[in-house]
Amino acid sequence: MSDCLFCKIVAKEIPAEIVYETGRALAFRDVNPQAPTHVLVVPKAHHADAAALARADDGLADEVLKAAHEVAVREGVTEGGYRIVFNTGAGAGQTVFHVHAHVLGGRALTWPPG
Ligand code: 5GP
Ligand code: ZN
Repeated sequence: MSDCLFCKIVAKEIPAEIVYETGRALAFRDVNPQAPTHVLVVPKAHHADAAALARADDGLADEVLKAAHEVAVREGVTEGGYRIVFNTGAGAGQTVFHVHAHVLGGRALTWPPG
């Protein structure tokens, strides 16, 4: 989608600090990190939210989730615990409507989130 921020990052039209990439997924650091590790994992193909990703019937959700876990391993946060979050819908805080998993770790994470 031409007007989508994360499609532009996937297309390298907007710079981002990429930390991991697979054939169909890209992981890059959040520009406004909320934890020492705060990485966003997106499918390269545009899907608006987690519901749309779940409906993608070609293993794409699986690839995104595996990429999120691989990021956590590479960032060294698995032992201390980490969180994979899909804010889904404006009411849940989603502001960019290209689905993305937040991978958060490197500090104690409270529950429930706000
Ligand atoms: P959401 O609120 O949709 O769950 O998450 C969107 C995330 O994208 C936010 O954490 C925000 O900091 C991040 N973000 C917004 N614009 C950019 C950008 O241009 N580059 C990067 N790397 N992250 C961004
Ligand atoms: Zn997009």
